[in-house]
Order: sequence, then C-alpha cells, then structure tokens
Amino acid sequence: YAETGSQWNVAELEDAAHRHLISPAEEMSKLGTSGGRPLFTSADGIYIRDSHGRTLIDGPGGMWCTQVGYNSQPIADAIAAQALRICYNSPWYSINGPASELARRIAAFAPGDLDHVFFTTGGSSAVDSALRFMQFYNNVLGRPDKKAIICRIDGYHGSTHLTAACSGRAGNRPNFDLALDNVSFISAPNVFRRPRGMSEEAFLDMLVAEFEERVETLGPENVGAFLAEPLLASGGILIPPKGYHRRILEICRRHDILYISDEVVTGFGRCGHWFASEEVFDIVPDIITFAKGVTSGYVPLGGFVISDAVLARVSGENARGSFYTNGYTYSGHPVSCAAALANIDIIEEKGLLAHVREIAPYFQEEIRKLGELPLIGDARGTGLVACVECVTDPDAEEATDFDKEVALRVDRYCYEGGLIVRPIGSMCVLSPALIITREQIDDMMAILRGSIVRVQDELKAEGRW
Ligand code: PLP
Repeated sequence: YAETGSQWNVAELEDAAHRHLISPAEEMSKLGTSGGRPLFTSADGIYIRDSHGRTLIDGPGGMWCTQVGYNSQPIADAIAAQALRICYNSPWYSINGPASELARRIAAFAPGDLDHVFFTTGGSSAVDSALRFMQFYNNVLGRPDKKAIICRIDGYHGSTHLTAACSGRAGNRPNFDLALDNVSFISAPNVFRRPRGMSEEAFLDMLVAEFEERVETLGPENVGAFLAEPLLASGGILIPPKGYHRRILEICRRHDILYISDEVVTGFGRCGHWFASEEVFDIVPDIITFAKGVTSGYVPLGGFVISDAVLARVSGENARGSFYTNGYTYSGHPVSCAAALANIDIIEEKGLLAHVREIAPYFQEEIRKLGELPLIGDARGTGLVACVECVTDPDAEEATDFDKEVALRVDRYCYEGGLIVRPIGSMCVLSPALIITREQIDDMMAILRGSIVRVQDELKAEGRW
C-alpha cells in the first residue's frame, strides 16, 4: 500500500479480513483464512494491482462492469462534485438533477417506446423491482393470478429472495430457502451441450416448444413474465440460437406476458450497443434491467427502463388509485447518477460502442483459436464477452469435477502470468474493459494460451489425461 500513499498495512488488512469480513460466495470451511482471495490495492485502465505488487490484466473487467476502465479522472471528479453539491435527497418525496438527466439519456437510447426509468441500487434490486412491477401491474389490472415467472436453468438474476429464486444456477441453490412459488424453469439455450446429433435449428424449435408448452401447462392467464438474460453470462456465456428471443417474445405477446430482458451484463456497451436486446438479439422487450456498466463500477447503481405502452395501462386514468410503493432509500442516488452521466459521456466521447463493434470480431476470432487446443471443448462469445470451456472427457454430457479442477488450474497459471480470468465451473471467462486494444487482447490471449498448454502438458505428465 505504501506506493498508493495510504497508511494502511497489508498484513493488518488481511488479518482484519480474516477476522471480520464475510465475502459473497464465501466458502464457509475457509472462513477466517484468506480463502485464496487476493487483496487488490490499485488499478488503472484495464490493469489491476495486488498487494504483492503484481500488475494483472483484469480479464473479467471486475464482474463484467469496468467499461471505461479504472482510474478515470472525469468520473472521480463528477462523484466528488456531486457529493459536495448535494450528496443525497429522498427519492420518496423529491427528485434530483442527475437522476432526471440520466433517465432522459437512458430513455433516449433504449429501444422502442421504453421511455421511463426506475433506479435501484444494483442488478439484483433492478430485477427484483421489475418483477415486483409485474406483480403490481397484474394486481392493478385485476388479474391477481397472472404472476408466474418463467426463467431458465443456468440463468442468474441476483441475490434477493425473489431474484435468487429465479436464478437457475445449480451451484447457488443449496442450503437456501427459495421463494419458488410461481417460478418455473425451462432449459438453458446451451448450444454446446444440446442433445447429441441434434441440429441447432431443431434445438431452437425444441426450446421454443418447451416455452410454449410451459405457458399452456401453467395457463397463460397465470403467467406474468418471462425473465431472461439476452446471453446467459454467469451461467457460462450461453448464446441462444439465432431467433430464440424473437420467437419467445411472439408467444409472450400472444398471451400478454411481460418480457423482461435482464441486461445487467449486456448493457452499456458490452456487445457494442447501449443495449443488446434490439440491435444484437432482435427484440424490443417490455422491460430492460441494467446495472454494472452504467457506472463502469465506480459506484453502485441499477434500474429498469420500461415501455410506455405497459405503463399506460396502470397510470394516469388507468391508475385506479395505485401507488408503486417499491423503492429504495438510494433510488436515483445523485452521486451514483452523476457518475453514470460522466461514464456515458466518456463512452460517447471515446466512441467506445463503435470501438467494441470494431474490435470484438478480432477478440472473438482469437478466443475461437484457443478452441483448437485439445483441452478446450468449446470457445464462444459475442461482443466483448467470451469463454473457453475445459472438457477433459468429450463423451461426458455435462462438465465433470475434473473439468472444473482443470479450469481452476488454468486460472491459477493465468494469474501467475499476469491475467485474471474468472473461472465459472469448467469455464474461463473474459469480459474486459471496453477500452481494450488489439495489443492488449494479444497479451491476454497469449497468457491464456500459455496457461492452457501448460496444464495440458502437466496432465499428460501426471498420466491423468
Ligand atoms: N442480473 C445479471 C444478468 C447478473 O449477471 C447479475 C450479477 O452478476 C445480477 C443480475 C445481479 O446484479 P448485482 O450483483 O449488481 O445485484
């Protein structure tokens, strides 16, 4: 820490963390130890530095969120200026400038008639608020039974009671009581793991038929929302077959089911557009949720943007005396919204959306080259998000424990080589800051390739593969 001018001492901080800090996804048997988590001390651009003074490329971009990169003076200035001007106002009975202006900006680049924004504190609260809106909406419309939520296995939507219940990642579920009433899961659109011998077109038909059948089984009058990430991010960079979202949206429209597109990861430039729903995945949903990239991770913020047509049914003369009493002390927090405005200015001034559209094909081409290595079963992605999946047994239908162990080893060697990759099960995931250059992509791929090759060689030498 000395180099950053802080009086903190690394050993004392690590000791404090061991004694007092509970982290997300804490492995409880390791509580009170470091659990192998590094202590990061400073960062700049796409790079991050740990307490041992090692500089690393931040492959996952924080957690898919550091769009404009670390150490942005304009964002820091905007935060400081707003904190001094007015750091807080209660959104329950007043409004502030940054939230109003940010709502205007987001409405301007959201697709279709998605024109009104509700702000929250992050991604979980954004999705939770969107789902609670669906419940509120159907109650106001006098259809109290129309509340079921259809979502996907391997989807991730957050860590509140309701969003956790809608998250289908198996690893997140044990030992929690989940609000499962009215939540119904359909298959993940996992093209790589689709039934053996089935074409992608047939797989798409199967997925759409499954959704349609589920709506019929539950009864369309009981289904309130379909909740989906455009691409399943934490579930392993699962990009659905072309046409998937559009066909499901058509079924939703037929049955008056709200389509909620969870763009917490894909929003704010990750796929080369402000939002991916329309431009990349060809749909205009009813609600888009966002968080993460809206502030490039400088401060917490999330929200949803919703269609005027939907709002009109429960507002104005159709309000029936209702109040949408969902909200937070920090909804539309002025400092967070000021940071988001500065972030959006940077994305515009630097032309980062165009930059992503230009550089992403190269990034995707390079990641697919890694797919040719024997240990890699699949390499996939879109925009600036991608993964390689370690597959030690091509005959296995699902990722094995050995695959996961191997991915962890790749992860460890990447770290030693100067790159963070986020191991999710058997996958190593990359979603770097949008400012990344071609040379930096080359650096990232070289480290990842070297680490995979090293693991391959070791496994062979150990006689385990
Ligand atoms: N939705 C998606 C698609 C996410 O990936 C995440 C987090 O990774 C969330 C919601 C939850 O966001 P947060 O962790 O900000 O609450």
